[in-house]
Amino acid sequence: MKRVTLASAGLLLLLAAGGALAQAAPAAQPAKPQDTEQWTPVPPVVTPAPTLDKPQPPPSDAIILFDGKNLDQWVNTKDKAPAGWTVANGVMTVEKKAGNIETRRSFRNYQLHLEWRIPADVTGSGQARGNSGVFLASTGPGDAGYELQILDSYKNETYVNGQAGSLYKQHAPLVNASRKPGEWQTYDVIWTAPVFAAGGAVASPARVTAFHNGVLIQNDAVLSGETLYIGKPVYRPYTSAPIKLQAHGDPSPPLSFRNIWVRELLTTPAK
Ligand code: MG
Repeated sequence: MKRVTLASAGLLLLLAAGGALAQAAPAAQPAKPQDTEQWTPVPPVVTPAPTLDKPQPPPSDAIILFDGKNLDQWVNTKDKAPAGWTVANGVMTVEKKAGNIETRRSFRNYQLHLEWRIPADVTGSGQARGNSGVFLASTGPGDAGYELQILDSYKNETYVNGQAGSLYKQHAPLVNASRKPGEWQTYDVIWTAPVFAAGGAVASPARVTAFHNGVLIQNDAVLSGETLYIGKPVYRPYTSAPIKLQAHGDPSPPLSFRNIWVRELLTTPAK
């Protein structure tokens, strides 16, 4: 009896100690996508100017990334094979099974113009409604890099740092300048690439200014690192990177792009 009592007392002590430990240092929960969602404040809705029937010609010094004819400037991100999206009637359309595509060329600082259209028959809600994105620097496979979100945000509620014009899970757009599904929309973006010191430390973070349908939505926004679905942003050193378009896995009808061009902004060496 005595031995059993002692053993029981020991067990109780152990349980008590375990309980105290559990209170002092709760086991870390795995990070969830919801941890980095921001739902308020909701950006005010601004009605942009009516869409243009035809794309405007690019400026004379632009590098043409897509002019409606072919995908020569693009490859599949996963295998670098010629881009597997479709081209018809002067527009390119996402082919989900081909996955993300990215430019053959790499860039540092630039001005980018692109036009995108959510299909008029779009279905779904939240993030599963016309989701795509332009990664301003594609730093690796999949969704690695810095995503400016593309989504149907016309009367479609989602977390605000994941709606159209957000720098995904880092900065909501200043306003919601979305057009209706079926109408062409424009992004004009100024990308200032992050600068890394020799050891990989961030000497200067990435910055983004962006216009959606001619309306300012990001005003020199400073990024904390690459845009992530789960977890806190992190920087990974790179020098130049392709521009990437996202084939999102949601089941809504695929969206289309047209008139994509970029103007490289060459930095002037300090004197
Ligand atoms: Mg996206």
